[in-house]
Amino acid sequence: MEETKWKKCSQIHRSRCQQISVLLVGGAIDSVNIQAHAKINLHLEVVRKRKDGYHEIETLFHSLTLHDNIEIRKRCDAGIRIDCNNARIPLDKRNLAYQAADLFCQQMLIKNGINIKIKKRIPIASGLAGGSADAAAVLQGMNRLFEVGLGVEDLKKMGIKLGADVPFCLTGGAGIGYGVGEVLTKISPLDDVPILLVNPGLEISAASAYQGLDLRHSRQLRDVKISAKYVEEGNLRGVSQSLYNRLENSVFQSYPAISILKEELGCLPESYGSLMSGSGATVFAIMSNDIEAIKSSEVLKRKFPICIVARTSPFGLKIA
Ligand code: ATP
Repeated sequence: MEETKWKKCSQIHRSRCQQISVLLVGGAIDSVNIQAHAKINLHLEVVRKRKDGYHEIETLFHSLTLHDNIEIRKRCDAGIRIDCNNARIPLDKRNLAYQAADLFCQQMLIKNGINIKIKKRIPIASGLAGGSADAAAVLQGMNRLFEVGLGVEDLKKMGIKLGADVPFCLTGGAGIGYGVGEVLTKISPLDDVPILLVNPGLEISAASAYQGLDLRHSRQLRDVKISAKYVEEGNLRGVSQSLYNRLENSVFQSYPAISILKEELGCLPESYGSLMSGSGATVFAIMSNDIEAIKSSEVLKRKFPICIVARTSPFGLKIA
């Protein structure tokens, strides 16, 4: 009798211990892994230059499957340490991932040190928002790692302090961006459409692309809503016919090779149309199928250093 009672007690104790150990493991997270996705702009109109020097734009963003991998790990000592597989990425305060971690720690009063490991796949300074995607991943990753529980709107308010594309990278998918790109309206994304990305080996800073822009002449502004409607309908022909980027003219004047590349991608078999993304230098083509996208990229690789076949993605971040 006594023995049965003891057995029962010990079973309950064991099961409680198991519960507690699960809670401890679940609660005390040491690291998070996040996929930080690239974006393209299917439409980019520059509305005006503001008094503070920034340009007001209307743009249609779309996330891609192409992504960097970010690992954030707690450290016993203080400080933020960055490690990256690409030697051309700064590892100090100039890195947007560093700035994001620093801002999050300051605003949330976090004293813990962290290591951030960046596996870079998104080409640098290429109009694909690689730095912004990394910053967005760090904000969301820190939120998870330290169990702060901020909503995406709070993170977007932090994100805009780091860069105009950070708020979109936090939400991802497809969205219209107003203001400097931070006032976002989400729309239904395209469903797994192959996108061929080609970069002629040029790095263009967004600042230099906007500097070359001449906004004095009167012009008709292109309406972003037309492209957005085609995206929501999944009408690839419509999306391709309305592809537009106001920055192309100024960038093409300085780098005629990008204009030639755009024409070449537009003429590929099974290409619906082509456009320079953001401030360049990457040009993308919307392709009708994967096989043709891969075949074309194999041929183009002989001429251009960066040729990547990606797809449209319904999200900007993925936490593993
Ligand atoms: P956008 O499309 O938002 O204008 P981009 O793709 O043209 O961005 P990035 O790849 O973000 O440009 O790089 C712009 C600059 O930011 C580069 O000079 C790079 O050295 C610097 N940088 C800082 N942190 C990062 C990072 N984590 N990843 C990439 N670049 C970074």
